[in-house]
Amino acid sequence: MFATLSDRLADTFKNLRGKGRLSEADIDATAREIRIALLEADVALPVVKEFTAAIKERARGEEVSGALNPAQQIVKIVNEELVEILGGETRRLRYAKTGPTVIMLAGLQGAGKTTLAAKLALWLKEQGKSPLLVACDLQRPNAVNQLQVNGERVGVPVFAPEAGNGSGDPVAVAKASIEEATRKLYDVVIVDTAGRLGIDAEMMQQAADIRAAVNPDEVLFVVDAMIGQDAVTTALAFQEGVGFDGVVLTKLDGDARGGAALSVRSVTGKPVMFASAGEKMTDFDVFHPDRMAGRILD
Ligand code: GDP
Repeated sequence: MFATLSDRLADTFKNLRGKGRLSEADIDATAREIRIALLEADVALPVVKEFTAAIKERARGEEVSGALNPAQQIVKIVNEELVEILGGETRRLRYAKTGPTVIMLAGLQGAGKTTLAAKLALWLKEQGKSPLLVACDLQRPNAVNQLQVNGERVGVPVFAPEAGNGSGDPVAVAKASIEEATRKLYDVVIVDTAGRLGIDAEMMQQAADIRAAVNPDEVLFVVDAMIGQDAVTTALAFQEGVGFDGVVLTKLDGDARGGAALSVRSVTGKPVMFASAGEKMTDFDVFHPDRMAGRILD
């Protein structure tokens, strides 16, 4: 992830090394190279434009600081703008003041929701919470079983319709799970919902109905970082059809170019809250914009 972008940016900065002062032409050339690097990383065009404009403006306006040479100053500006584009501050999970916190997961089939549900449950357990996983993906054959297997792996109970796979009403299951959690004093409920391979009106409606029925504290849109620009299109469709509070990027361990990670926050205005990077249950963490920017510029 980000390997090409990192290399490209490093080359750009190398060209500035040893320069005493940056001319207008230097700044233009640098902005152009950054633009190409971002486009190659599959970052959405409006985001690229905004990013390079900000770099240019700041590079021109920057006071020459005694401590940093021009190349270092550009690195500093790019770093700060990357943090900004990735969301600025780390956005923490909001917990309900009373009763169980309800977290709903939405996204396309294959995005990694079911895996993520268990990873999040494990992470919550490690934070001292007592989570309950809820199987509301009653569409995909085997989704309920998969959640049950994952739940067992992380030692978290799974609430599922009695009949198992492929049956039952997801809205009713979601509602019943909240009652169960309240009764049995679970403090976080993680609702896994059905996805389809493509954007689909019926799927959106079902997710919207579940949302309306359980009024989640957080709706998290789960998206595969490997799908590049499609992540943006999908995010916008879910934003319109279901609405969400935060984004979870999955498969960050893949060799994707990073465009999804860099675009989704700017395009949707919603923060990336968690990142999932591997098949192991522990390959999961809170998303920190500053650390991610640091990795890109490492
Ligand atoms: P769902 O359809 O959204 O519930 O997606 P799944 O949780 O079933 O995940 C789809 C596939 O992606 C499975 O084979 C997972 O093992 C895999 N997967 C999920 N998260 C990650 C991840 O962070 N990294 C990698 N490499 N694979 C993942």
